[in-house]
Amino acid sequence: MYICHMQLLDGVLVSAHIKEQIKTEVKEWQAGGGKKPHLAAILVGNNPASEAYVGSKVKHCEELGFDSTLLRFDAAITEQDLIKEVERLNNDDNIDGILVQLPLPGHISGDSVINAIAQGKDVDGFHPVSVGKMLLGQPTFLPATPYGIMLMLEYYNINTAGMNCVVIGRSNIVGTPMTILMSRNANPGNATVTMCHSKTKNLKEFTLNADIIIAAIGRPKYVTADMVKPGAIIIDVGINRIDDASKKSGSRLVGDVDFDNVAPLCSYITPVPKGVGLMTICGLMKNTLLAAKLRTGK
Ligand code: NAD
Repeated sequence: MYICHMQLLDGVLVSAHIKEQIKTEVKEWQAGGGKKPHLAAILVGNNPASEAYVGSKVKHCEELGFDSTLLRFDAAITEQDLIKEVERLNNDDNIDGILVQLPLPGHISGDSVINAIAQGKDVDGFHPVSVGKMLLGQPTFLPATPYGIMLMLEYYNINTAGMNCVVIGRSNIVGTPMTILMSRNANPGNATVTMCHSKTKNLKEFTLNADIIIAAIGRPKYVTADMVKPGAIIIDVGINRIDDASKKSGSRLVGDVDFDNVAPLCSYITPVPKGVGLMTICGLMKNTLLAAKLRTGK
């Protein structure tokens, strides 16, 4: 049997460290006459998960010394009116970053709304220009979750050069940008990346060959111990709510990885919760501070 010393990639520890760095940077920036970074968040409808995510982002702004504005709209708002609101924020000199919480109601095109955000305020890194720049390796806002994962690998000094990396999932917000960042000529990066998705045949053949697996699937405990090579690094992006009668709420959060059985096999693993989710906030906050600095030209 393979026995290896597993280390937890601790989102609480790393995010606390990065948040301290951001707080210091904001104070220094303001001491030099810079303006307080200001994030505007748009929430449409009342999806409970979206409410929780936006609430947490606004709370973090307060904690880090940023200003924030939460704009709530009824689920019935038209695409045209929502785009008008985005344009108003684009032209508001007081706003540095604009975030549109996804998903949007079915009658609104997420692409059209994202495309309407001024690229200089695109702190989620979803605008086509931001994505294009990322692809070309030019400085830009990186999508918050992949950015947070890179910050975590960096913190633990994990050198991914030459590793076989399997990313499971191809969404625009996680899977696709993750494959780009892991394959670029940088550290973290320099991995040989395979992107797997819902039409991949024999997923296990790919994952068993992986030195690092990044799971962004949205299926509870989908990556099981028999799919993991001993000593692999596991980054679990999934956030899934499952029934749990032992909890007061009747449910709990789990990742896309069967943590209890996979953890003893690997070299490093992120827990869910308290893993990648906390890093995502760090990515967003770093982007917002950068946007304020770039925009106000200091
Ligand atoms: P998504 O639904 O847009 O994409 C899921 C991807 O998984 C798709 O590309 C699909 O091809 C792939 N997939 C589905 N079934 C598969 C299968 N059987 N085998 C292989 N691939 C399969 O989801 P997303 O927005 O990328 O999010 C993925 C997960 O990550 C969700 O649980 C989401 O809640 C979570 N998430 C977490 C954070 C965070 O901060 N931790 C941020 C974003 C998303």
